[in-house]
Amino acid sequence: MQGPLVFVVQKHQASRLHYDFRLELDGVLKSWAVPKGPSLNPQEKRLAMMVEDHPIEYRTFEGAIAGGSYGAGEVIVWDQGTYRTLKGTTKEEMQEQVRDQLNKGHLDVLLFGEKLKGEFALVRQKRMGEKAWLLIKKRDEYASDEDITLQDGSVITGKRLGEAV
Ligand code: MN
Repeated sequence: MQGPLVFVVQKHQASRLHYDFRLELDGVLKSWAVPKGPSLNPQEKRLAMMVEDHPIEYRTFEGAIAGGSYGAGEVIVWDQGTYRTLKGTTKEEMQEQVRDQLNKGHLDVLLFGEKLKGEFALVRQKRMGEKAWLLIKKRDEYASDEDITLQDGSVITGKRLGEAV
């Protein structure tokens, strides 16, 4: 049972390496920059800084962002797939849940990626600032001690950062 909404994680060698975790909502990609990347270990809560929405078309972008601009550097599609919320059946019901849970600061999603699977939570950390969230793997059959960031190739081309352009 896949989700009706898409997600993508782009690995981005900007001035600092990070992973951009993006969820489709209302025709755009809600986005968080995750410095250490996602973890499959529920005990490793990863800082995720909310950044500006991106156009939905950006989800397949790989290549170099030109020097001098914000975020200049190479990008690969590190993971992609679909997602759904824990309740609801239609796309509209699920988007309503995502909107509501983002407002409340606690979003639960099921990911159907190639690397990321199962339940993840995004939890806002107001004491760390308005844009600070934590990305947390929930305990399920896909939780693991494996370091998933060691699988460092693009899920589209197999290329790693440094080989992408
Ligand atoms: Mn980025």
